Amino acid sequence: MSLLVQKYGGTSVGTVERIQAVAEKVAKFKLQGHDLVVVVSAMSGETNRLVGLAKEMQAMPDPREMDVLLSTGEQVTIALLCMALKANGCEARSYTGGQVKILTDDAHTKARIQSIDEKNIRADLNAGRVVVVAGFQGVDENGSITTLGRGGSDTTGVALAAALKADECQIYTDVDGVYTTDPRIVSAAKRLERVTFEEMLELASLGSKVLQIRAVEFAGKYNVPLRVLHSFQEGSGTLITIDEEFSTMEQPVISGIALNRDEAKVTIAGIPDIPGVASKVLTPVSEANIEVDVIVQNVAADKTTDLTFTVNRNDMLRAKAVMDAVAKELGAKSVSTDDTIVKISIVGVGMRSHVGVASEMFKSLAEENINIQMITTSEIKISVIIEERYAELAVRSLHTAFGLDKAE
Ligand code: ADP
Ligand code: ASP
Ligand code: MG
Repeated sequence: MSLLVQKYGGTSVGTVERIQAVAEKVAKFKLQGHDLVVVVSAMSGETNRLVGLAKEMQAMPDPREMDVLLSTGEQVTIALLCMALKANGCEARSYTGGQVKILTDDAHTKARIQSIDEKNIRADLNAGRVVVVAGFQGVDENGSITTLGRGGSDTTGVALAAALKADECQIYTDVDGVYTTDPRIVSAAKRLERVTFEEMLELASLGSKVLQIRAVEFAGKYNVPLRVLHSFQEGSGTLITIDEEFSTMEQPVISGIALNRDEAKVTIAGIPDIPGVASKVLTPVSEANIEVDVIVQNVAADKTTDLTFTVNRNDMLRAKAVMDAVAKELGAKSVSTDDTIVKISIVGVGMRSHVGVASEMFKSLAEENINIQMITTSEIKISVIIEERYAELAVRSLHTAFGLDKAE
């Protein structure tokens, strides 16, 4: 007998029938003798619908009220799933984040979990009940409802698994595991039997939304066995592993390719090329709480420099306003923005022991006539910024070039 934390995503609980199917599945696990804590997302589309309503009220919705609103989506599914479980003869009890007491900081809409009170959950498990917890939400010190950022139910699942020392955290979703790249973009994508935490962290942060990045961070930190599986198909899914031996011996050079459509580019051109200028440009950006990702600086023959950086698309206009002020101060020639770019990244721990991966990547993009605008690398990833219209072509050609296509 084991303790399992199972998380079911939005599409898996998207209709009454699917909630009933999840209830049947959970009841079966219970009958096999497992203890179960089930985390659910809001029904698919619900969180987006609520965000839409909020924006009709206020252009920039008040963050505290936003969390009160968004948390209702998950509250609906926990109650419906418990009813469906009871209809299957399976005793169950629902908890909102606040009722469990998933304590978070007060950073509304992107709160971080600080602690979890496991007392009520343990008591219910001991009494033979299935415990159903609302994903994506918690409560701060003052009792205000908080949410954990989009996709945050994954993090609730992993955090509960860590707190309860569960045998496994199972993330059930609408794909049967983690693929070499988004299977909705590349039909030749292959399911990975295993992927290391390190690689999964890069894939998640670089744009593969199959797992929220914080969930992967948490699982790595607390050593939570984590598996991604299909909600309604049999299969072993993908295990996220720390097995070092596996990562160096069997691992191909590239494990996966991520596509991020959320970035935009800001360029400030014709600024004096003197020490300290990068800091003069970028400090006001971070002071405005805008995260900068890729940065490139070019020096022209006339001793002026251009600095280009990327930010989240939602922050592009704010970043432009900050740059307009900087441009005035430094006497820059111009400030321009471009939100028709994407970031494509290849990821693999095998890169550490192979040379020529970058040139292979650049060559295959050149063969498709795709211009690389910016490049950034780390030990286990290479990212490039390219024009958005080439996104899918680039992912497909890199997938083939690095031998990731599945056999026909
Ligand atoms: P859920 O609602 O269950 O949380 P998400 O929509 O958040 O599901 O995540 C699952 C989706 O992630 C898949 O439908 C798939 O399109 C997308 N995805 C992106 N990259 C990958 C990848 N490398 N492997 C698997 N799925 C991926
Ligand atoms: N319902 C939330 C969202 O759509 C959380 C989640 O599904 O993980 O982002
Ligand atoms: Mg998700």
